[in-house]
Amino acid sequence: MHKPFFFRLLFLFFSIVAVAQAPKKPTASEIYHDLQKLNFVGSALYIAAHPDDENTRLISYLVNDVHANTAYLSITRGDGGQNLVGPELRELLGVIRTQELLEARKIDGGHQFFTRANDFGYSKNPEETFEFWTKNEVLGDVVMTIRKFRPDIIVNRFDHRSPGSTHGHHTASAMLSLEAFDMVDNASKFPKSAAEYGLWKPQRLFFNTSWWFYGSQENFEKADKKNLVSVETGSYFPALGLSNGEIASLSRSMHKSQGFGSTGSRGTETEYLELLKGSKPSDNNLFEGINTNWSRLEGGKEIGAILNPLEENFNFKNPSEMLPQLLKAYPLVSNLKDTHWRKIKLEQLKQLILDCGGIFIEAVSEANSINPNENFKVTVEAVNRGNADVVLRSVKNSEGKMLWNESTVLPFNEDKKLEITVNSGVHNPKYSSPYWLNEKGSVGMYAAPEALIGLPETPVLEQLTFELQFGNATIPFTKDIIYKFNDPVKGEVYRPLEVLPEVTASIPEKVLIFANDEAETVSVIVRAGKDSISGTISLQHPEGWQVAPSQQTFQLDRNGETKTFTFTVTPPRSQSEGFLKPIVNTEGKIFDRELATINYEHIPYQSVLLPSEAKVAKIDIQKKGQNIGYINGAGDAIPESLKQIGYSVTAIDPSNISAENLQNFDAIVVGIRAYNTVPELAFAQPALNKYVENGGTLIVQYNTSRGLVTENLAPYELKLSRDRVTDEFSEVKILAPENPVLNTPNKITQKDFEGWAQERGLYFPDEWAKEFTPILGMRDKGEKMTKGSLLVAKYGKGYYIYTGLSFFRELPAGVPGAYRLFANMLSIGK
Ligand SMILES: [Zn+2]
Repeated sequence: MHKPFFFRLLFLFFSIVAVAQAPKKPTASEIYHDLQKLNFVGSALYIAAHPDDENTRLISYLVNDVHANTAYLSITRGDGGQNLVGPELRELLGVIRTQELLEARKIDGGHQFFTRANDFGYSKNPEETFEFWTKNEVLGDVVMTIRKFRPDIIVNRFDHRSPGSTHGHHTASAMLSLEAFDMVDNASKFPKSAAEYGLWKPQRLFFNTSWWFYGSQENFEKADKKNLVSVETGSYFPALGLSNGEIASLSRSMHKSQGFGSTGSRGTETEYLELLKGSKPSDNNLFEGINTNWSRLEGGKEIGAILNPLEENFNFKNPSEMLPQLLKAYPLVSNLKDTHWRKIKLEQLKQLILDCGGIFIEAVSEANSINPNENFKVTVEAVNRGNADVVLRSVKNSEGKMLWNESTVLPFNEDKKLEITVNSGVHNPKYSSPYWLNEKGSVGMYAAPEALIGLPETPVLEQLTFELQFGNATIPFTKDIIYKFNDPVKGEVYRPLEVLPEVTASIPEKVLIFANDEAETVSVIVRAGKDSISGTISLQHPEGWQVAPSQQTFQLDRNGETKTFTFTVTPPRSQSEGFLKPIVNTEGKIFDRELATINYEHIPYQSVLLPSEAKVAKIDIQKKGQNIGYINGAGDAIPESLKQIGYSVTAIDPSNISAENLQNFDAIVVGIRAYNTVPELAFAQPALNKYVENGGTLIVQYNTSRGLVTENLAPYELKLSRDRVTDEFSEVKILAPENPVLNTPNKITQKDFEGWAQERGLYFPDEWAKEFTPILGMRDKGEKMTKGSLLVAKYGKGYYIYTGLSFFRELPAGVPGAYRLFANMLSIGK
């Protein structure tokens, strides 16, 4: 009994959670579910700020229960988040989170859009957010998305009336949605998108509220609900074998980089929507009063008359029975005057024709990557596993050029394979890597070519169009060319076919700190993007810096092969910052990109091209002491940064902390969030304090105020708060000008607080014993001065320092002043 049941569960699980990039192969009941979606003519758009903000329960409800064409517009790609699956941060994390959203949508059935706004990090309110986002551009992108997607209803995740109570991006997303709602039918607002997509007026705008926006369940129960619509989202879908809550959890669990694994729920579940604009539905149907039948469209009645009865008479044993009816509807759908719905419904109908017909077509490239304008081999596999008469008429490339037109019958269940040579042509964009990273943007905005704005990813550059003939109807089907291979452990592995440059080069070390006048060697890795390539590699450098040799020659035989070259880089005598940029010259063509790859099982393999560079900084820096012990916390790159300025750094095993074990270190540094993540530290404080008492220096970096393994993290009383200063340009006031931490061995001045990245710091203490000296004062606009960012106390013969300053961001970013201040902390008392 047990085994078959378990097996069936697994099967269902795999049928809905397709391995990233593998083609969907729906079961008969999933085909039935797709037919229900085909017969619903209405759309809903969900709007929030980040990947993972979206309420997948409501999105899945709209797709799978209501059957609406549903999309999530995430204003950003989530570059500013954390990464629990690997080392990628910033733009590469944004690529991962973009793909996680796309995988989430594959599960719940929605579509995905973005704007050009960049998740630059935390902001306390929408005003601060709009200092970084170019508001008119982001608003224009929201307006364009609404005009393009034409939602009947729009649902905001966040409350536009609550600035300051949540992340500024959240409130800003709701404010943008509200503003856009009122202008999408006005031709004078963003006239370009008005001309391209036409005007549109959504019928309703909702705010997807819940008790937590009211502070507590009790408050929510007491609240006035006359403007709220409630919908029951706990449905069970027998065709999918899942409840709505279970689909929502599978979808939510795709946000793996954010640690959002979620367990499915069953049973009734109510969602509340507050009406912000439009007329309130008279019942709990969000589309009440909106015609969502085929009759909505001119010429739609006839289509509905053909397609609606198919649901009633669906044959789960043999879905191909409905193929003649689908083929009958095909010319009518192709002739719909409404171009918006024609495109959507034609795609859905064609997919159903293939799925009902049991027709499998796939185009597999021999190579995993190609260069622009290159010939490459593709194997086409076509098999007809249904009972219709099907002829494969022709195969065309992305530009519509005929590649094969020998018309062959596809007999029942006979696997046909064709070898075709495809020329890749030159595309726009040229390469398949994420389009929003092709050019450097600003802190708050991506640079994107106009034609691609809003798209979740770069469109697949290489596709083939197959013409299939059914009776006297010939229907074109377009398929992405993919790459796949067999892995001995995983089995069939699918990857996107990528269009990449002939050669790329990178400097593996992204920030190089020069703490004295000595020259350093810098490695440059050249990677071939094709077989047999040669040329020269040189390093562009800032003025005053010297690089030798001026160029080197390379020769690589195979695509994917790499070779490392070293250059000697000599800094100028004075403090200086700039960038080294590898430049490859091959046959007179210049290549200046580097290739980063991202390989996780839950998302498709990603090749990301970025402008190739490394930051160099010559810093006027003096230091005392040499041996640093480091207690790792949640993970940061401080040890590598300290090594760059000449310190020896040793990792300390947290289960083996004693005053004797530490006595030979000049200073002990505690990594970020160590008191949140390292259980052993609950018992280590007496030993750490003893080490300080004996003359050591202990530096503790930021911890979050909640979830500490001990409240006792200093020799004197110290209380953490949620105080933070997010504006990296905010003025820094020097409170203790005579303190050694500001004077020896480096004299710290205002200049040392210039050029900081992302923020000043976070979770500053707000109460401390009188033994502590507050060193710096800082604040965000309109807030009171914080004084807890850097606290220094003498204890016994040594020093204890607590700092919430974001050294974990500033040192890896090569900020000179942050290095000089950190060196002073390490040198104190020496
Ligand atoms: Zn968020």
